[in-house]
Amino acid sequence: MKTAVYPGSFDPVTLGHLDIIRRAASMFDRLNVTVMINTAKTPLFLTEERVKMLQEATADLDNVTVDSYHGLLIDYCRMHGIHVAIRGLRAITDFEYELQIAQTNRELSHGALDTLFLTTDIRYSYLSSSAVREVASFGGDISSCVPPFVAPLLYDKFGTRMPE
Ligand code: ADP
Repeated sequence: MKTAVYPGSFDPVTLGHLDIIRRAASMFDRLNVTVMINTAKTPLFLTEERVKMLQEATADLDNVTVDSYHGLLIDYCRMHGIHVAIRGLRAITDFEYELQIAQTNRELSHGALDTLFLTTDIRYSYLSSSAVREVASFGGDISSCVPPFVAPLLYDKFGTRMPE
């Protein structure tokens, strides 16, 4: 059985992430979407909240499971017998950062972990969790960026309101 992992912060999950999840899930027998706990970042949503959002957003995808991990991706992959990590690429600016991580993971895992890049659907090429957080913090319209149930959770965090 071929399993891949899609690691990320997902703070919060966006339609861009979901597009990558759907496409990756159709390529593998199983896809683990894993909220990576990064102590260098202070997330808006708790790990459990992000896991729950991802579970709800992927409920219709039978071969997708959602979990979280605090540690190195290569250790997670070794534990689960996973050899492919999925990452999304939006623009050339993503590439430099992603290439460095992918090569580090390949090196650290002695070639056991490869990274498969999926290019963003053009509809979501501008979309990032940080931009969504910023727009929501000012009460802007994020309905075209996140699943419908996620938008109110964001406005709640910031004490802002959904635009009429
Ligand atoms: P991280 O903090 O690990 O970069 P993110 O949640 O921001 O986590 O993103 C996880 C992965 O999803 C990254 O590979 C990122 O490039 C990709 N991604 C984020 N937004 C989009 C999008 N709109 N389209 C395609 N890929 C995306």
